[in-house]
Amino acid sequence: MKINLANIKKAKKLLNKRECIAIPTETVYGIGGNAYSDTACKKIFKLKKRPKNNPLIVHYYDLKNLEADCDLNNDFKKLYKRFCPGPITFILNLKKTSKISKVATNQKKTLAVRFPKHPITRNLLKNLNFPIAAPSANISTKISAVTSSDVKDDFGKKIKYVLEGGKSLIGVESTIVDLRKKPQILRLGGLEVETIQKILKKKISININPSKISVPGQLKIHYSPGIPIRLNVRKIQKDEAFLLIKKNKINKSNYYFLSEKGNLKEAAKNLYTTLRKIKKDRYKSIAVSKIPNKGFGKTINDRLMRASKF
Ligand code: AMP
Ligand code: MG
Repeated sequence: MKINLANIKKAKKLLNKRECIAIPTETVYGIGGNAYSDTACKKIFKLKKRPKNNPLIVHYYDLKNLEADCDLNNDFKKLYKRFCPGPITFILNLKKTSKISKVATNQKKTLAVRFPKHPITRNLLKNLNFPIAAPSANISTKISAVTSSDVKDDFGKKIKYVLEGGKSLIGVESTIVDLRKKPQILRLGGLEVETIQKILKKKISININPSKISVPGQLKIHYSPGIPIRLNVRKIQKDEAFLLIKKNKINKSNYYFLSEKGNLKEAAKNLYTTLRKIKKDRYKSIAVSKIPNKGFGKTINDRLMRASKF
């Protein structure tokens, strides 16, 4: 996608004025604001109707910009070198001298940090003198946005500006890994756990459904399209939309396919768009056929399981 410098200039101007705007990333669109400003961060929570105790991910251009705010450890450095910029979020300890808004962290001593790969948002970050706090651009508990029109559908005029960046290439949120002690996955996402494990050369535990919820990605109800979803379905009921991983020969208007040949990465990329499409096509419920529980299939199943709790 071509970089439109006039758009980036407009985005920069609004962010400098402590406004919040939608920004494109390779995972999903975000609602971004100055992470050093309480005013900007409060606006993000208000727009999203997000509970105050759900801290925000802070987006940086590179490691140099992060050093002022967080303590960096060896596991982080290894993963940063291999995967950043990219679809992975790190939980790190905040430095006492950090300027990050306490609204963004909800007073926590830790920070969720990401380096997005999208060239437009990278260009924007490079030209700011603060990092951007940005949770996903959706109303809390609802489905995330992967295009600028998804964001406009959800927020309408309430959002001051949507920085156009085309469709998000990955289409699901980042994988969150807590690196403060033994590495722990807090949310499955756009980078496979096996891939992270290979670089760290140690076992990573998965803690995505804890008794005490520490990140919204762990909420039991989340990513909901606003209509009921049934999982692992073989036989659909009358009037249901049927969501399948792989295209098949049945050409019925209520059949929706996530990929041509059953490629799980492609399926993850199409998941949110397809759920939105089914809702727009006015189906009242969705039946989902079994999705292999490996690689990106685990992320898809995680999202659908939470969306099905609606
Ligand atoms: P979202 O951007 O809406 O996909 O959500 C951001 C995710 O990062 C949420 O699950 C947050 O709770 C999580 N997060 C942000 N800050 C922290 C933190 N300090 N510790 C643990 N998780 C965090
Ligand atoms: Mg979210």
